Amino acid sequence: MKSIYMDHSATTPVDPEVFNAMIPYYTDIYGNASSVHSQGQKAARAVEQAREQVALLIGASPGEIIFTSGGTEADNQSIITFMAANPHKGKHIITSAIEHHAILHTCEYLSKQGFEITVLPVNPEGVVEPDTLRAALRADTALVSIMHANNEIGTVQDIQQLAAISHEAGAAFHTDAVQTVGKIPVNVKELGIDLLSASSHKLYGPNGIGCLFAKKGVHIGSYLHGGGHERNMRAGTVNVPGVVGFGKAAELAQQRLPQNEAALKVLGQRLTQGILDAIPNTRLTGHPVNRLPGSVSVCFQYVEGESILLMLDSYGIMASSGSACTAGSLEPSHVLLALGLSHEIAHGSLRLTMGKDNTQEDVDKVLEVLPPIIKNLRLMSPLGQ
Ligand SMILES: *Cc1c(COP(=O)(O)O)cnc(C)c1O
Repeated sequence: MKSIYMDHSATTPVDPEVFNAMIPYYTDIYGNASSVHSQGQKAARAVEQAREQVALLIGASPGEIIFTSGGTEADNQSIITFMAANPHKGKHIITSAIEHHAILHTCEYLSKQGFEITVLPVNPEGVVEPDTLRAALRADTALVSIMHANNEIGTVQDIQQLAAISHEAGAAFHTDAVQTVGKIPVNVKELGIDLLSASSHKLYGPNGIGCLFAKKGVHIGSYLHGGGHERNMRAGTVNVPGVVGFGKAAELAQQRLPQNEAALKVLGQRLTQGILDAIPNTRLTGHPVNRLPGSVSVCFQYVEGESILLMLDSYGIMASSGSACTAGSLEPSHVLLALGLSHEIAHGSLRLTMGKDNTQEDVDKVLEVLPPIIKNLRLMSPLGQ
């Protein structure tokens, strides 16, 4: 049985070209990038090349990129160290109800340290309304953090507008762009943002590596204390193979983005429409148009998301329900609840996130097996009609 992977928002396979680019840094060029000898210098050059590749993908200068252990660390470092480095700007932070836990739990931590957090609601399509942000901004708002695209429902925010509104009020702007970098065009200058988080394993690079973009002149600090790596902004021996892989993945993403984006958009629309046409009592979650290409998220009434996942898995189809981090717990996802969905509806959520290797045949296969799965689960369910 051919397996069909449709969980790219959770993680992506490492591209073979990325893997090949990494191998020499595990075998021949194993020097510490801080070492003076030629091995170390080769490693250091590779790190700087990767910094350029990543910077190019998001329209930044290489000097504005700090490599971290991933999106989670970049989110923590952005928010925690920005607030610590800019006490004169105030103690108020604004974020949204649908952020990844790397943002929400960081804000909860800061609220216990004496910072004040405002969590903005979203509309039923998962959009942070500009007026909601305007109304929440205060003289002591130091930072606004709104994600670019949501990992569960795919909604893409108008970051350019939200950043402009924040700047008018004197606040800096951070975006968790882990789901958009490499998938849709992201240009930090056009979007007008100060801080951005990205992660390699969401764009066909290796796990455990990511980056923080900090616009020149924006003050942040080191989150990990130790050596002077990453221009004193991130202590710890640099993960050279990881950085090289992230750089290669960024380069490939840049080359392939227009083609992949267009193809995934078509597949996503076909899959969404096919599901909505074939299965009654189903609703799309997230924005119908402004969403990640290839990202399908729906809720089926009268069924449990987890049962759908197990049934799909028995056909070799890998998907998720809510976010991968909350799957396994029966609490409905905070994102779906923030849309105003009832617990009962939110429990029947399914997320199918396609990637560059998914095909029309994959979509057809899902459309063949999913309707009978839902029908049978509804027949067995005490909630069923
Ligand atoms: C995956 C993800 C993260 C976490 O990134 P890691 O590199 O896995 O730590 C943060 N934010 C969003 C939106 C994500 O999808």
